[in-house]
Order: sequence, then C-alpha cells, then structure tokens
Amino acid sequence: MSGELYTGLNGFLHGRFGERVYRVSVDAGFTCPNRDGTKGRGGCAYCNESGSRAAYVEPKVPVAEQLRRGKEIIARMYGVRKFIAYFQPYSNTYGVPVETLEHLYRSALEEPDIAGIAIGTRPDAVSPAIIELLADIARERLVILEYGAQSMRDDVLERITRGHTAADTEAAFGMSRGKGIHLAAHLIFGLPGETPDDMIAGAIRLVELGADGFKFHHLYIEKNTRAERMYAAGEIGVLSRDEYIEILCGVIPRLPERIVLHRLFGQCAPETLAAPEWTLDKNGNLDLLRKVLRERGIRQGMNV
Ligand code: SF4
Repeated sequence: MSGELYTGLNGFLHGRFGERVYRVSVDAGFTCPNRDGTKGRGGCAYCNESGSRAAYVEPKVPVAEQLRRGKEIIARMYGVRKFIAYFQPYSNTYGVPVETLEHLYRSALEEPDIAGIAIGTRPDAVSPAIIELLADIARERLVILEYGAQSMRDDVLERITRGHTAADTEAAFGMSRGKGIHLAAHLIFGLPGETPDDMIAGAIRLVELGADGFKFHHLYIEKNTRAERMYAAGEIGVLSRDEYIEILCGVIPRLPERIVLHRLFGQCAPETLAAPEWTLDKNGNLDLLRKVLRERGIRQGMNV
C-alpha cells in the first residue's frame, strides 16, 4: 500500500491480477438460517427481504446469465475486463449439499473473464467439508470468503437477533484460516449497546483470528425492517457521519497493512433508506474520510 492511506480492495486485486478487477453480484437462490426457521424467521433486525442483493441482480435468471449481464453493465460503467463472481445475498454456503456448492462455484469460475469468486455467508453456515472445497479451489483461483461477524459481543448480536454468537465466528475462522482462502469479516459499527472501543476491539480480535480483510459498515436503517420500527420507537439510533469517521480513524491505524479494506461505508438504494441520509453520499463519505485521515496523518498499520 506504499503511499496509500489504507489497503483497498481495488489495489489488492490489481496487485494480484495486474489490472482492475470488479465484483459481479449474483443471487444463486440461497436462503439463510435466520430466515428459514433454523435460527429464526424474522431475520436480523436490519435486514431487508432481499438479503442485501445488488440492485442489478435478477434472482430468477440462471447464474451464468446473471454473470453475463452483470459483466456487461460493469464493463460499460468502468471499462474493466476481469471480474470476481460475488455470491452475495443471503448465506451462500447454506442449505445445499457440498456437491451442489462445488458445481455452482466451479461453473462460475469457468465463465469467461471470471478471475475468482467471493462468497458471503454467516459464521454458523460453514462446515469442514465446505472449507476443504474452498481450500481446494483456492489452490488455483482467488477465493474470498466473507463472514458476517457484525459484532464480537454476544449481547449486541442478541439485540439485533443475529442468531449466532461470537464463538461461532471464532470457530468459523479457526476452521478456515491458513488454507489459502482470503478471509474477510463484515462488521457493523453503531449497533445498539456497542461502544467505539468495543468496535475497535472486535476488529482487532478478528485480525488475531485470521481475518485478511474487512467490510466495515455503519448501521443504516432500511424501510420495512424491524430496525426501522426500533428506530421510530427510539430504541436504536444511528451514528452521524463524523461519529462513524471517528471510529474508522480509531480502527484503521490499528490494522496491519496486509489487511484489505474491502469496504468502508454501508450502501443502500435511495428508495429503501430510512436513515441516516448521509448513507447516500457515497463519494462524499469516502472523500471526507480520506481528508480526515490525511489531515491527522493517520495511515493503516501505524499503531499496530
Ligand atoms: S444473516 Fe444476512 S440474509 Fe440472513 S437475516 Fe441476517 S442479514 Fe439477512
């Protein structure tokens, strides 16, 4: 990351493939144990019913076709020629035999211009057999496995009805690390009952557990979610942009330079957002963070 404020995903992918590489989201029809009744039915408090599907994704269309259409859109917008197939919404290792997963992931990798795969899932939705499959694929291709940790405090996870514990996250990382898989953790900052120190400590713990990267989100409230009702009732609040940036300024210098920051702000479609309004200012948010980091002389890894 020489000369950079932090190690971003684009730089990481460019370093590995020698050119710009973008993710193409696909919906392969998975569900989630916190929606199908195994862990719960209502889902996490903040989850919208699409399970965080990208706007351009058409879930009824076969994955190969979704990839073709997604690549076309992204190539037109950004002029890139290589892509990561991103199994994004819901829990993309859950509820199907490992042979089905193998067929799905390997088929995606056979599509033209697909450089690797990224798989979003929950820490309680993996098994040794799934990890062995991913490790096998990772011997030849890039495999990014994203675990939705969200918080490392059980009382916070309970408050948002996440349906798994920090111990589940520890076990998932224990099972997955050291196998050539790029392990990323999702953390939401601003969850009810968590202090900035807890949030920073959670990220540091995940590094100790073997995280290679992070997606950081601020808690934003989407319409028609339980979080919206809790927000309206004053049971939860949202961070101001300055408060969130302050937390990032606390976390980033504590992360080793090798840690890849896949995302630094949560994103949401304007029509589904309830709060905070600043969520929609995608470029402004990043510009402000970078300005603050520069002004304060903060760089990733400086306080490890
Ligand atoms: S685990 Fe993901 S898909 Fe499932 S309810 Fe929570 S946020 Fe939604």
